[in-house]
Amino acid sequence: MRLKTIFIVSAVYSITCFTSSCGTKSTESDNDDEIVKLIEKPVSNFSQDSAYAFIEKQLSFGFRVSGTPEHLKCANWLYQKLNSYTDTSYFQKGSATTYNKKQIPVYNIIGSFNPSAKKRILLASHWDSRPWADADDVNTDKPILAANDGASGVAVLLELARNLSKNKPNVGIDIIFFDAEDYGKSEFENSFCLGSQYWAKNLHTPNYTAHFGILLDMVGGKNAQFMWEAGSNSWANFALVHTWAVAAELGHGSYFVSTQIGEIIDDHKYVYEKTKIPMIDIIQYDPQNGFAPYWHTHDDNLGSIDKNTLFAVGHTLENVIFTPPPSLEY
Ligand SMILES: [Zn+2]
Repeated sequence: MRLKTIFIVSAVYSITCFTSSCGTKSTESDNDDEIVKLIEKPVSNFSQDSAYAFIEKQLSFGFRVSGTPEHLKCANWLYQKLNSYTDTSYFQKGSATTYNKKQIPVYNIIGSFNPSAKKRILLASHWDSRPWADADDVNTDKPILAANDGASGVAVLLELARNLSKNKPNVGIDIIFFDAEDYGKSEFENSFCLGSQYWAKNLHTPNYTAHFGILLDMVGGKNAQFMWEAGSNSWANFALVHTWAVAAELGHGSYFVSTQIGEIIDDHKYVYEKTKIPMIDIIQYDPQNGFAPYWHTHDDNLGSIDKNTLFAVGHTLENVIFTPPPSLEY
C-alpha cells in the first residue's frame, strides 16, 4: 500500500434520520440535537484476546513472503481456519509479476457465509508480510513480521468469522485474505496489491458482486486513528459515513475520526476499479506523522499491537453487519 496525495478536509456530519425511507445522510450540519440512535441491539461477541491469539499464530509461521515455505504453511492454516467457520471456502491459486519482473505465486483465501444470498457484504485484509524492512535503519533487505501491517486485519476478520459461525446474519458475507499486497515499491505503478488485482480479474464466483466492502489494513496499532481516506469517500461515501457513525455510537469515536485524508493506494481501490463494488479502507494514518513509526520496519512485531484497537475495529464491524446502511436492508 502506498500514499498517493495528502490533502486534508475537515468533515462534519450528523445522522439526520434513520428509517428505511430516509436513511443515513451526510450533511454539513453540526447540530448534535439531530443525532438519532442507529443500533437497536448492539452485538458484543468480539473477543480481543482471541483476535490477538490469531495474530500470534500468523507470526508463528515466520515471514509470510510469497514463494517461501512459511508463506504456504500460513496459507494452508488460514484456509483451514476460515473453512471451519464459513459455509463455503475457496483457496484461489494464481500468479503475479512483481515490479522487478519476477513471477510469484499468489494465494487468495476466501470464505463465505450464506453463499446464495443476493445481498452481500465483502470484508477483506491482506495476509502477506512485506519482503523488506525498507523503512528501517538496519537489515533493510530482510522481511518484516508484519504484526500490524497484515496480520491484524486478518485476525480481526477471523475472530469475526468465529462469531458469525455461531450467530449468523441473514445477509451474505464474504471474507477475503488478499495475498502480495506489500510486494510493491512506490516508484512502480500498480506494483502493490497483487493479490487483489488478481482476484478482481479472476473472481472466485462468476459475476460476483457485493453491496459494499470494507478493507482492514493496520488495525491493531496503539491509539490508532482511522480517518476518511479520500478514495473511500469518493466511491463509497454511504458505507464510510455509516461505519464511522456506528463506531461513534459504540464509543469508538476516538479511533474513528471524521476527517478526510488523501488517497491511499490499497486493495480497495483495485476492487472498486474493476468490479465497481464500493469499498472503504479502515487504515491507520495520521496526517501529521504519516503511518506509525514502526511501519515497514522490524518493529512491526507483537509489541506494535494493542488489543483495545483490535476490539474497537472488530466491535464496529460486527455491528455494521447486523445494522447495515439503510440501502442494504435484509
Ligand atoms: Zn505495508
